[in-house]
Amino acid sequence: MKNFNAANEIQDLQYFGEFGGVNPSISDSSTYTFLSAKTMFDTFEGNADGCYLYSRHSSPMNLYLAQALAKLENTAAANVTASGMGAITTVLLQLCQSGDHIISSRTIYGGTYAFLKNFLPPFHIETSFVDISNFEGIESAIRPTTKIIYCETVSNPLLEIADIRKLSAICKKYNLKLVVDNTFSPLSVSPGVLGADIVIHSLTKFINGSSDTVGGVYCGTQEFINETKNVNSGACMLLGPTMDSLRSASILKNLRTLHIRIKQHSYNALYLAERFEQDGLKVCYPGLQSHKHHELMKSMMHTEYGFGGILTLDAGTTDKANEFMELMQKENLGYLAVSLGFYKTLFSCSGSSTSSEIPEEERISMGISDGLIRFSIGLDDDIQRTYQRMKACMVKTGVN
Ligand code: PLP
Repeated sequence: MKNFNAANEIQDLQYFGEFGGVNPSISDSSTYTFLSAKTMFDTFEGNADGCYLYSRHSSPMNLYLAQALAKLENTAAANVTASGMGAITTVLLQLCQSGDHIISSRTIYGGTYAFLKNFLPPFHIETSFVDISNFEGIESAIRPTTKIIYCETVSNPLLEIADIRKLSAICKKYNLKLVVDNTFSPLSVSPGVLGADIVIHSLTKFINGSSDTVGGVYCGTQEFINETKNVNSGACMLLGPTMDSLRSASILKNLRTLHIRIKQHSYNALYLAERFEQDGLKVCYPGLQSHKHHELMKSMMHTEYGFGGILTLDAGTTDKANEFMELMQKENLGYLAVSLGFYKTLFSCSGSSTSSEIPEEERISMGISDGLIRFSIGLDDDIQRTYQRMKACMVKTGVN
């Protein structure tokens, strides 16, 4: 059987010519045949590079999507998972054992926060939550048992930017792994090139872009990916957050338009952020000069993809935010829904939705106010018209 394990050989999966389709064939099997019983045994032992074993371990379509995502993030290899949380939990549990310690940015997705804060301590893995821009604070939080610094390139929902180069230098100094969730900034920022050891995405968001599935990926060295798939000790192999092949195929097809979509999301978000700022609204967007990490973002990004599709607006109170969002939905300006990266604008109040896992006093001290609305700006063709119609909703609901 052909060797599909090495990332650089996966392109052999697609056949060109009279029998080849433009898309790779979808592998629709959970298990694979062996001509020799000895090869099956060797495969379990990890000594038969190239043989498929069982689809929880790997499958042709998943390897194909993983290879494309490794290329996107400029890493040697990647592995796809059934959700973003499946990728995050696999990586953290592979790198940490009982007694270990993690340093994490305090402004991260609520689910990741809950995993670190509530789920890991009973397994004796502790996390210190830090301000990710305070490098002295980070260094002083490092313990002999620290294994990881964890952050999001652009944080959810506060849009704080992590200085990947500086964090990477700290990790190298103390022999730690830098794990970066790049869900908010695919293509715009390449954390792996800036020094991250492992780059994670919730594929559910911009990368898939059609809000029809959940999915995840972690990108890193071939050695690390192999460790996570080891039949005896691999967190992915043993916890089993495997993506289905049919879903990998559909995500791969959507991935091909990511560059066009990201440019449009970024263009529309910048347009609205600039207008909202001129109108005196409390808007936060990394593309605005007023954003506290604007210059840092500029120093890390691939300019042509822009500052991304997410902005936040503080409507003052939860009631005002809710009234405003409900009206926008009624006016067909978008959907009152969590998640991001859809063709249509999505909006939700972070404090009462995707960050509700964070206790109220911590939320407030971080700056997640009750009226904070997170917008994932859609692909609207006429963003000027969208702006005018959003303004009309603001006027009607007293958001100013
Ligand atoms: N990372 C970030 C930044 C997120 O916003 C989310 C989900 O909202 C996740 C990870 C988790 O991804 P999933 O919902 O695909 O498990």
